[in-house]
Amino acid sequence: MKNIKFEPVIGLEVHAQLKTHTKIFCSCTVRFEEQENKNTCPICTGMPGVLPVLNRKVVEFALKASLALNFHINPVSIFARKNYFYPDLPKGYQISQYDIPIAEHGYLEIEKEGTIKKFRIQRLHIEEDAGKNIHRADKSYLDFNRAGTALIEIVTDPDFRSAEEAASFVRNLRSVLQYLDVCDGNMEEGSLRCDANISLRPVGQTNFGIKAEVKNMNSFKFIEKALLYEIERQTELLEEGKKVLQETRLWDSDKGKTFSMRSKEFAHDYRYFPEPDLRPLVINNNLIEKMKKELPELPDQRRKRFVNQYGLPEYDALILTDTKNLADYYESCVTAVSDPKMVSNFIMTEVLRYLKKHSLEIQENPVTAENLSKLLIFIKNGTINGKIAKDIFREMFTTKKSATQIVQEKNLSQVSDESSLQDTVQKVLKNHPTEVDKYLGGVQNLFSFFMGQIMKETKGRANPQKVTEILKELLKTQRS
Ligand code: ADP
Ligand code: ZN
Ligand code: MG
Repeated sequence: MKNIKFEPVIGLEVHAQLKTHTKIFCSCTVRFEEQENKNTCPICTGMPGVLPVLNRKVVEFALKASLALNFHINPVSIFARKNYFYPDLPKGYQISQYDIPIAEHGYLEIEKEGTIKKFRIQRLHIEEDAGKNIHRADKSYLDFNRAGTALIEIVTDPDFRSAEEAASFVRNLRSVLQYLDVCDGNMEEGSLRCDANISLRPVGQTNFGIKAEVKNMNSFKFIEKALLYEIERQTELLEEGKKVLQETRLWDSDKGKTFSMRSKEFAHDYRYFPEPDLRPLVINNNLIEKMKKELPELPDQRRKRFVNQYGLPEYDALILTDTKNLADYYESCVTAVSDPKMVSNFIMTEVLRYLKKHSLEIQENPVTAENLSKLLIFIKNGTINGKIAKDIFREMFTTKKSATQIVQEKNLSQVSDESSLQDTVQKVLKNHPTEVDKYLGGVQNLFSFFMGQIMKETKGRANPQKVTEILKELLKTQRS
């Protein structure tokens, strides 16, 4: 088997927690930072005799997601009981959808290096979340605040052929859900959870191989790492002529490996059957039309608009529209500064670099759009130069002070005053007679050496355009 080349086949199952104010079948508030079991009632704790009442918002959010992901919406779908025992599932079953989900046959198109690839999505269904087990010392506790929270589950076709493709799909999917404002997309906190199914097959073979399912990857980076690990693990097995076991594996991010959790031979029989306490879900065209009208601008559309409206390169537009919050941040700055490319450059380099360094999301950015705009306006109107702006930004980021305050406190405004700049340039030339001679003798690149010296002399505050002019002028007079 050594000489056979294998190709990965990957399919994803993504759970997204919906941002509804209340739970799916009761009126308990959805909030997790609260004290344990605060947001619970007889319905979401599964007391006997209670009846679920479907939250209309859940249906609307699921429809918006279905429309944005190009799904066919089933006019009638059915809720089903998925029976299993686990302490965090007080009813002994989860209300989900099975044979007939709310939506089927969707897809998401993703552009990479100029080519568009279409990834098919089998289904989207509505279901309720379970509670949480909490283990402390020698005791276990149950917190039902999350029980009954609304989820949508999105199951893709096995269309991904690399770890990178799979991760990029989740990234794009998250972006769509965030733009729709139906899910906050926080993977670390579990609002967006992704399980990956992966198998290998010899290149050229049409049948799929035996798959393993990987769970517990709570970031894009881990999805990619876990899948790369699985590709390697399965390749080794197949090359040794061994079989891949059909099983569920857990990703351990500390060890950088996946571990077997349970074999699928003992797979649950969930004994699905239609939920007798809920009527079939009927979606009429009026509701679909209403949801279509409420669809906001989606990431793809916004990216295209950024290119057309602001004249940005595709690359900038792609990065800036990655999340709705970042795109909003960019647009508020552009409105204030009206120099789209300059704003884009500063955000893509400085802002994103600092956020990454401090592992912050754009919405946690200590520098507000308003504050960044002030800084950028200072550059535009010549109060400060670009280099000092970077230093000021660093300080704004760490101290949360405003640009205006820092410029005033540190007396950082740019020196544009002709006569004082003339003095400085003269002084520098006087102190470097050899370099001046060499320059006049033809060593052109010494020009930047003089610029550097002048900047040093003015602690970086000299207006570079003015200095360039003065320096050229004075060097000319030296020549004659
Ligand atoms: P199961 O019966 O194990 O739940 P499904 O057919 O329902 O499997 O598929 C679950 C997920 O696994 C889907 O995302 C699907 O695309 C993916 N999948 C199915 N078969 C394979 C395979 N051989 N290799 C990789 N992924 C697969
Ligand atoms: Zn409740
Ligand atoms: Mg299945």
